[in-house]
Amino acid sequence: MKNLKLLFIPAAILALIFTSCGGGDGSQADNAEVDSTAVASEAEFNYLAEQFADIKLIRYQIPGWENLSAKQKELIYYLYEAGLSGRDMIWDQNYRHNLEIRKALETILTSEAANRASAEWETFETYAKRVFFSNGIHHHYSMAKIPAEFSAEFLDELLAATGAKLSDEAKKAILDPEFDAKKVNLDPNLGLIKGSAVNLYAPDITEDEVNAYYKALIDTNDTEPISYGLNSRMERDADGNLYENVYKSGGLYGAAIDKVAYWLSKAADVAENKAQGDALRLLVEYYKTGDLEKWDDYNIAWSSATEGDIDYIQGFVEVYNDPKGYRGSYESIVQIKDFEASDRMKVLMQNVQWFEDNSSIMDEHKKDTVKGVTYKVVNVAGEAGDASPSTPIGVNLPNANWIRAKHGSKSVSLGNIVHAYAQAPSSGFSEEFIRTEELRARSKEHGGLAGKLHTALHEVVGHASGKLNPGVGTPKETLGSYASTLEEGRADLVALYYLLDPKLVEFGLMPSTEVGMAEYDSYIRNGMMLQLRRIEAGESIEEAHMRNRQLVASWAYEKGMEENVIEKVVEDGKTFFEVRDYEKLRVIFGELLKEIQRVKSEGDYEAGQALVENYGVKVDKDLHEEVLARAEKLNSAPYGGFVNPRLVPVMEGDKISDIKVEYPEVFLDQMLEYGENYGFLNK
Ligand code: ZN
Repeated sequence: MKNLKLLFIPAAILALIFTSCGGGDGSQADNAEVDSTAVASEAEFNYLAEQFADIKLIRYQIPGWENLSAKQKELIYYLYEAGLSGRDMIWDQNYRHNLEIRKALETILTSEAANRASAEWETFETYAKRVFFSNGIHHHYSMAKIPAEFSAEFLDELLAATGAKLSDEAKKAILDPEFDAKKVNLDPNLGLIKGSAVNLYAPDITEDEVNAYYKALIDTNDTEPISYGLNSRMERDADGNLYENVYKSGGLYGAAIDKVAYWLSKAADVAENKAQGDALRLLVEYYKTGDLEKWDDYNIAWSSATEGDIDYIQGFVEVYNDPKGYRGSYESIVQIKDFEASDRMKVLMQNVQWFEDNSSIMDEHKKDTVKGVTYKVVNVAGEAGDASPSTPIGVNLPNANWIRAKHGSKSVSLGNIVHAYAQAPSSGFSEEFIRTEELRARSKEHGGLAGKLHTALHEVVGHASGKLNPGVGTPKETLGSYASTLEEGRADLVALYYLLDPKLVEFGLMPSTEVGMAEYDSYIRNGMMLQLRRIEAGESIEEAHMRNRQLVASWAYEKGMEENVIEKVVEDGKTFFEVRDYEKLRVIFGELLKEIQRVKSEGDYEAGQALVENYGVKVDKDLHEEVLARAEKLNSAPYGGFVNPRLVPVMEGDKISDIKVEYPEVFLDQMLEYGENYGFLNK
């Protein structure tokens, strides 16, 4: 996969998705599902907005807003308006009747004449909310049609009473599960284009025609190709020939694109620096002309614009919705540098040599001069299009390989989104999987910071630490398929080893070592059992991060068994693993760190294989079944998405003097508000 963007992640498999450490591992999110922590200042903030069907709607805050200058806030506001102005495009891209259907839903939902007393009303409203969540009538993740569980008669009654209009085919699309059943079909037997309802190709176009079209167009010797087909719908002209109907001013989606370009121009005028402003102007030009050469120019400029606190994703970017992989779905994400995470990283960077010198690994495996690894965390100020309400949690762009190779790329983790995922209470997880009030309280008080510190130590110090013996090949060569599990284990162990070190308190990174204790509690709980809920009964562990967590936890459990360092408690038929001696556990983590570093430094395949196979792969069958049963009982919605903050300009005369942030509570209200304010294609 050339692009590491993590789209459409069901909250329940969040931590599985991370296969590289570009922007964090999700270990934090994984642990924090139990350790739902409220930082004092946000104790009042209600993260979970609502839950319906298979969906959980979460609210998120914009930390550090008050530290921004008025001009920075203005820039963010314009980018936010630009993003929302393109919202209609994703609806139409997803399916040709979506805008018509949405308009009808909006009319019904806002009409007093709708029969809300009917027993079917709730079913109808839930259907509507699911459609809003998916930006159309197909499920955002499974791609299948969202089932309409109300009757055709009730729909007719609502239409008649409210004056809402639906064509016969749109009505059929809602009610007939067989009609345009799947948004994106990847089963070649059904036809990639014919079997896909997505509105990126005119309905009668065949896959063979598309293949022929691009075969004739694309020069395979071109080392710097444009992103063919990215910003158009493929249609047929009067003579029956295919052509690209381009998304641009005066072209397809022109009414929405003009609004997007308008706000982006305003953003360019208040850019933080020249590079940022130049990139924004190129983006405006691209939207006006639809010229894909300009899109490349823009991406080069955007990749090189790395100064400044504000950044954004904007355009027809990801091609997952096109079964042929040409056409990009509209999306927008507005990002602010995470100042707190940056400060944390700075402290670790400044002391990275101290960590190396004081590590438990053998002296010969220590680096004389260690350089920390930078990782970027940003906070989201607003999302739109394909990135909302369901969102990625990390983004790595641009997509064009030659631009990445020649001009670089940007990889970020969306900090406040990951945080909010973790904070949204997962109905009773803490009560179910943490046995004592004391442990629950510690988790609540320190779990959030513990997770963030773990991630920072893992990324900045962990992956940077240690060196290979002279002449030993790369871990990929020497350790083969075990390399990534062992590397993740090594980085986790560096973090765990230091999380109980009073030096972290001295560095000002945590208030007390109890933060480290909270991390030990949750790491063992997760690695010994909780993460098993993410795999199906009868399966063993495949994913590298999960393997490493079980390896670390179960190795430590076994080594400490004699001295009861970690105790297995069974109470009322429920199993718990609780740390009894934190200092001894730290020593055990240090020993395993030393051993895994030795394995890596020496390229000791057999020892590495034994560690992973004996501790990381196989699953305790009974425990696994128990965890699955306990987790299932909690009935947590598998998919998460977000209600966006609302940015409101404060005017002084005709000038913006400040931007206020509001945090709406009700998902449906936000959807209706967007429809009202940004319905530029939705006549
Ligand atoms: Zn890692």
